[in-house]
Amino acid sequence: MWKALKARLYQGYRTGKFPTKTPPNLPERFAGRPEVDQEKCAGKEEMLSSLCPVKAISVINGKLTLDLGKCIFCKKCAEKCDGIRFTKEYRLAAMKKEDLLTDSTYYTPPLPQDRSLAKLCGRSLKIRQVSAGGCGACELDFNVLNTLAWDMGRFGIQVVASPRHADCILVTGPVSRNMLLALKKTYDAAPRPVWVIACGACAVSGGLYGESGQCEQKLDEILKVDLYIPGCPPHPSTILEGIMRLMGKGAGPENK
Ligand code: SF4
Repeated sequence: MWKALKARLYQGYRTGKFPTKTPPNLPERFAGRPEVDQEKCAGKEEMLSSLCPVKAISVINGKLTLDLGKCIFCKKCAEKCDGIRFTKEYRLAAMKKEDLLTDSTYYTPPLPQDRSLAKLCGRSLKIRQVSAGGCGACELDFNVLNTLAWDMGRFGIQVVASPRHADCILVTGPVSRNMLLALKKTYDAAPRPVWVIACGACAVSGGLYGESGQCEQKLDEILKVDLYIPGCPPHPSTILEGIMRLMGKGAGPENK
């Protein structure tokens, strides 16, 4: 007992100040929101879209566009074209799928238009996580938010074991055929209203596994999704910032 208390005093307060005061401490190789310089990308559209492993690059309205919902942030496109630059912008989550399309250097994180979740759960959000065929990466980066370094419980965000206690279902994975029924049952068991969060490229768009015969439908073809969190896997700061934005707490601090 004394040993434990001594160790606790020695270690001090270890929880980071993100996202209330400071931007997250991101590793050097972190790849955040890409910036697209249309002039520098001109003439390279076909080459770039053919090298992207998840077909995240296309031309929309005459502009080279990256779909962050599909992107696995492998940086292959940036290696071949200096018009694409991955920044340290970690605030990637969006409430609408079209807000995940990026074709410029300009960006402001979108705020929720539907304030119902903020009104009902602004101070306490219970989440039931469903791994619908995930590889474990998104699950681990979400799980880390429960550790003392992130401590999402200080914002009232908690993971619950039963969907009966959940305000929100956080889904990871491309929704494999084997997990489809379990996902639907979990959603049906949650009291209304219930919100759905798609966490990671697989849940948002199918990712690398979306075209597999084992994945019949994308998550947003099965359930109405309220928050899309891109990444493969998303960084914990991206997940936490997105959830807090959905809760009506505003966008997280900018990472310059
Ligand atoms: S970083 Fe994203 S857009 Fe670029 S090649 Fe990789 S998956 Fe495609």
